[in-house]
Amino acid sequence: MDRLESKLAKPVIQTLAVIGIGLIGSSILHAARKRRLAARIVASDKSQAVCDRAVEIGFADEVIADIALAVRDADLVIMCIPVGEYARVGAAIMPHLKPGAILSDVGSVKACVFTALDPVLREDVHLIPAHPVAGTEYSGPDAGFASLFINRWCIITPALNASAAATARVRSFWEEMGANVEAMSADHHDLVLAITSHVPHLIAYNIVGTAADLEEVTQSEVIKFSAGGFRDFTRIAASDPTMWRDVFLNNKSAVLEMLGRFTEDLTALQRMIRRGDGDGLFNLFTRTRAIRRSIIDLGQETAAPDFGRQRAPEKS
Ligand code: NAP
Repeated sequence: MDRLESKLAKPVIQTLAVIGIGLIGSSILHAARKRRLAARIVASDKSQAVCDRAVEIGFADEVIADIALAVRDADLVIMCIPVGEYARVGAAIMPHLKPGAILSDVGSVKACVFTALDPVLREDVHLIPAHPVAGTEYSGPDAGFASLFINRWCIITPALNASAAATARVRSFWEEMGANVEAMSADHHDLVLAITSHVPHLIAYNIVGTAADLEEVTQSEVIKFSAGGFRDFTRIAASDPTMWRDVFLNNKSAVLEMLGRFTEDLTALQRMIRRGDGDGLFNLFTRTRAIRRSIIDLGQETAAPDFGRQRAPEKS
């Protein structure tokens, strides 16, 4: 038993329902079960094959494909699905949530949660959005692992008039999962994540796409001689296409603003190369190296070669 497990005498949640059993949903299920965070855990997914696999893995007490039934007795419902599905799923589950239930999510974009759910939100249901800033490039029910959220940030974005008690429950749920929790507005979240996550993914998708389309260099050469830099981009560019399509469609203005800044800085870099400004390049690369150092010092990354990712992730 680890420190977090032994600390918990009683479950924090009576019934937890997780909708969407992919990387994040299955990681929550593994962790919630391991840390005994809920007396009863229900999982649901639109795909029957995923539901069948979830039964085999055995990280939920019940796997119920019908989401209306899955959320019926839940005290906390966490949507772990692409953000483009929120309006449809929100409308489908809302009449079946019990009074006082907390509806949360893990989506990588936050302002759109309110846009999608406010029109159908019941007054006796508490919407407390959350975003665990943790993940891998893998998808599906086998991709999850219990330690995914340990020492990672989870950003909660409750509305200004959100219930303090419901907000505190979501905060303590994520803290019990091992995450560090910070609250901010949905708009601020979207701006910060645009530069720390969304634009980097776009750059990775773009550079891998450019390499794939090059005519002067064959694809087999790109793969054969892929040095560390390109390989690291391919890892990010292997991320789930549905999830990332929805991220860009739902965080348009912040991503476009950050892309504008990025393009200006790229133009400045082009100019330095063209003019042979070695000092300019050296100074920038020295500053960026220091940023990496501080991320490692904060425990958000490892200094191990290859990001320490050679080993398969630990299962619960
Ligand atoms: P994933 O591995 O692709 O899992 C998503 C699961 O949800 C799939 O099993 C999918 O089924 C299912 N699903 C889709 N639409 C559904 C619906 N209407 N009803 C029920 N189930 C549905 O994706 P993920 O990486 O876990 O991402 C889920 C959410 O977490 C996204 O909102 C994403 O922004 C957020 N997030 C992801 C990461 C990351 O690194 N991946 C990190 C933080 C937050 P099908 O496969 O059949 O479509």
